Amino acid sequence: MSKILAINAGSSSLKFQLFDMPSEEVLTKGLVERIGLENSIFNMTVNGEKKKEVMDIADHSVAVQLLLQKLTEYGIIKSLDEIEGIGHRVVHGGELFNDSALITEDTLQKIEALSDLAPLHNPANVIGIKAFQDVLPNVPAVAVFDTAFHQTMPEESYLYSLPYEYYEKYGIRKYGFHGTSHKYVTERAAELLGRPIEQLRLISCHLGNGASIAAVEGGKSIDTSMGFTPLEGVAMGTRSGSIDPALIPYIMHKTGQDADEVINVLNKKSGLLGLSGLSSDLRDIEEAAENGHPRAKLALQVFADRIHKYIGSYAARMCGVDAIIFTAGIGENSDVVRERVLRGLEFMGVYWDPALNKVRGKEAFINYPHSPVKVIVIPTNEEVMIARDVVRIAGI
Ligand code: ADP
Repeated sequence: MSKILAINAGSSSLKFQLFDMPSEEVLTKGLVERIGLENSIFNMTVNGEKKKEVMDIADHSVAVQLLLQKLTEYGIIKSLDEIEGIGHRVVHGGELFNDSALITEDTLQKIEALSDLAPLHNPANVIGIKAFQDVLPNVPAVAVFDTAFHQTMPEESYLYSLPYEYYEKYGIRKYGFHGTSHKYVTERAAELLGRPIEQLRLISCHLGNGASIAAVEGGKSIDTSMGFTPLEGVAMGTRSGSIDPALIPYIMHKTGQDADEVINVLNKKSGLLGLSGLSSDLRDIEEAAENGHPRAKLALQVFADRIHKYIGSYAARMCGVDAIIFTAGIGENSDVVRERVLRGLEFMGVYWDPALNKVRGKEAFINYPHSPVKVIVIPTNEEVMIARDVVRIAGI
């Protein structure tokens, strides 16, 4: 039995889950917040009970030391030697990584070099990796990339219709994100359908604060809605999704903002939040829409409509679809969004059952038995994919 840590490091946060492998039992999980700021918060679940401590945590290395100390203090492990591997979520693997990779000096240099493509995320992921190297230098670590699953996209999917040399010189192309989640739910869907994944055409809808749709044919991603950055595609909690690019200089001219400020609006102040003027959280939007708030109703409709259109286009892309999958916070929980996304898709063989659609947060088929296209709710589990990849790549 091996204990594997799955880590997701942000610029001031560190999310962790400790797995027992191969049983995949979660021994503990938690989150360190406000690292490097005053009153940092250490959260950890111990035997189902949430523990929370407020203290100053100067940097990620201190956060890692504290985490390891707590693991032994709470008796989750007896000694640090029990930790046999660490998996790190890394946002951008560019074209350099089409699979998870053992972290070596070379891997780390490549991840750092890719910071140009993901300036907000990769540097934070590197800080997390280095913090563990400081504290547990002899434990093998593996990087699991959000982009890797989408590296199977063919040229016609990943290229923008721009001057070709922009791709060659600057790496301008669609990379796609949420790959670990799309991979997990599509593999799980094949299991639930009882069919080999090689024979399946699947559309995976990852709908959380960030949202993306993927077309997965024969187990390979062939197209996805997010692009060069996570801003492209469907409308999201605070992101606009795809817009006419000519709007950017127009908004700059009209509002006096510079390009970075406009991109910030598109990333942080648009989507459900921008349209409703209320909140980026779908629960608030649903509640306000139910109470008749016109712009909340509009935000909900725009959100669902864009997803509905992607499903149509990806079904066309694969010349058919065997199953549609809903996952992440909204996909797993919101019958309202699922209903609006699915409504009207009967023409392509999607017959869904409103009673089954009421399901929340657990695996379930929500189609009628005779429906040629199955519709499945599958809670995502990116952490277990990270732990599995540590075992596979580090040979544990
Ligand atoms: P992240 O991308 O941050 O991981 P999540 O996958 O946790 O996001 O999804 C967050 C979204 O899920 C929020 O918009 C939240 O409102 C929505 N959500 C969570 N639970 C429910 C629920 N019971 N009903 C409707 N929406 C929900």
